This record gives sequence, structure tokens and C-alpha cells, in this order.
Amino acid sequence: MLFKTSGSVQYVMSVKGSAQLMINGYTFTRHIVKDDTIYWRCTQFRALRCPARHRQRRSTGEVEVVWPHHNHDILERRKREPEVTYITSRKGTLQLEIDRYRFTRQKICKSTIRWECLQTKALCCKARATTNNAVRGAVYYFNNEHNHPPQMERRKAGALRKLKQQQAEQMLNNVL
Ligand SMILES: [Zn+2]
Ligand SMILES: [Zn+2]
Repeated sequence: MLFKTSGSVQYVMSVKGSAQLMINGYTFTRHIVKDDTIYWRCTQFRALRCPARHRQRRSTGEVEVVWPHHNHDILERRKREPEVTYITSRKGTLQLEIDRYRFTRQKICKSTIRWECLQTKALCCKARATTNNAVRGAVYYFNNEHNHPPQMERRKAGALRKLKQQQAEQMLNNVL
């Protein structure tokens, strides 16, 4: 979907599983739906009495600013730092792990490296990450919203190893 608001607008899932609108890093929850208009208010509306609001046309998805000013910094997603580690896969390639989800290098750019989830092809997972282009660089940005549980690759690799072992045993049996 395309939006006419300046800055970045995207949908995110809240911890409770409801859709939220994220505008320039701030999250909004749906307040009222009236005819063709959805009113979104800042998720800090209750806690901090933040007045920031947007409204959205349902038919076009277009977002308009009602009141742009928050009375706080971006808090939602910064509360907990993600657990970031680098891992060398069995094949010897460098992988990025964020909160137990594994990423593989997708594209190396001048100053950044783009990473994609290992399940991108298999499960069409849309999770991505960007790090600075240093060896084991810091994470700039990530979307760690996956359509599958973490650590699938490890199980898959284990299953594959078992299969290979069985094949090897079978070959040995055939030889003997
Ligand atoms: Zn706010
Ligand atoms: Zn994924």
C-alpha cells in the first residue's frame, strides 16, 4: 500500500496481536472507525496523555495528520535491546542472529549489509535486517517479524544430518 504522508508508514503487530500503524517510529492504535475514516491515536495516549493523532481513509489507505506532536520520544520498540550475535554456519558463511532468528547475507552495499531471514525462500518470510558494513557490524535496522518460530534452521540442519547419517549407514550396509 502507498501512503501520501511524509516519512515512513507501516503496519506492525502489537504484542497482543492487534494491528498498529507505525509512523516514523511511533506506534498508533485504532481509536474510532467512522464511515470511511479510521482515527489512530498514539499508543501512549493513556499512559502519557500523548495528543498525537492521525486519520486514515479506508478506501485509499491514505494517512493524514490530525495532530503531529508527541509529548515523548519514541519508546515502544526501544525498551528492550535485541540480542544480536554473529554465527558461522556449518558451510562457513557468516550469519546474523537476532533474538534467536537467523539471517543470511542478501546484499553487500557500500556502507551497509542487508540480511534476509533464512526462511525467505522456503516460507516467504519477510523479516530483514541491515547492519553497517564492518565485520560483525552493528545493526542499524531490523524487522524481526517472522511467520515462523525461531531456530527452524537448526532443527532442519539436525534433521538433514540425521538423514545423511542414515544414508551413510545404508551405503555401508550395502557395501558390507
Ligand atoms: Zn505519542
Ligand atoms: Zn523469518
